Amino acid sequence: MSIKIAIASGKGGTGKTTVSVNLFHFIKENITQSVQLVDCDVEEPNDAIFFPNYQVQEVIDVNQLIPTIDHVKCTYCRKCVEYCEFNAIVIIASKHYADVNPALCHSCGACAYICPENAIEEKAHLIGEIQPFNNSCQPPLLEGRLVIGSPMQTMVIKDLVNSSLLKADIQLLDAPPGTSCPVVATLSQTDYTILVTEPSPFGLHDLKLMIELLHEIKQPFGVVINKADDQFPEMEEYLLKSNIEVIGKIPFSTNYAYLYAQGKILQNISEDIQKVYEQILTQINSKVQIYA
Ligand code: SF4
Ligand code: SF4
Repeated sequence: MSIKIAIASGKGGTGKTTVSVNLFHFIKENITQSVQLVDCDVEEPNDAIFFPNYQVQEVIDVNQLIPTIDHVKCTYCRKCVEYCEFNAIVIIASKHYADVNPALCHSCGACAYICPENAIEEKAHLIGEIQPFNNSCQPPLLEGRLVIGSPMQTMVIKDLVNSSLLKADIQLLDAPPGTSCPVVATLSQTDYTILVTEPSPFGLHDLKLMIELLHEIKQPFGVVINKADDQFPEMEEYLLKSNIEVIGKIPFSTNYAYLYAQGKILQNISEDIQKVYEQILTQINSKVQIYA
């Protein structure tokens, strides 16, 4: 059975990518279970930067079915408008105008089903890509990539996390930052979520939003404090008071930040950082068993 673990944060810049790629690397090097890393930050995927030896093997299109209205067949009866829950269709009978707004359409198919004149045809519209790296059967890294300007992040993420290429025992989903729909699309598919935060007032504010979200969708989670130092004790005080578990603390290091900026963190993992990842994995294993 596969275990899906998401790595998420309420805002960008907390170290979510750092934790994702390091945890992936640590699992790959230290336990026998197979692991895949899935970059769900489809607006700006960047996990691949840390794996210069991985190559994209193929590109899988992600299409959205968008209805088009045949103006010859359409009688402007407005049935489709009544059935569209997303207000994506505009019909102005007096002007013989009928059109669909792709940005609002959720491809539910209701309008095509209900149209009495068979005037609606659904056509594939490219909204993104899935890029598997290295091996086409069980790629170690998969990346979702949204077409520039498309608002359909959630749809691309859903295709990505349900891809038939995801077969490993452990699947790490690097979630997009924030608390909106694309994040929910990622987290709702998982067995456990690692919330990455940093000890600062902004970090705490966004962490609280994420915790609220996870309580709402009833997902188990633990917190990793990145760039940990003694400058902001309010973070740990809050977590202690709220009975929220800290599953790891990654110490602040300027050298580490320098290596990150060069995309070289995986080649230079110090012993103390290795120990933190070992501890994180042990903690996760005690919640959702991934190895014996
Ligand atoms: S339901 Fe069909 S015929 Fe009626 S307005 Fe919509 S597209 Fe035109
Ligand atoms: S497919 Fe669904 S969401 Fe899109 S226009 Fe038709 S009814 Fe509306």
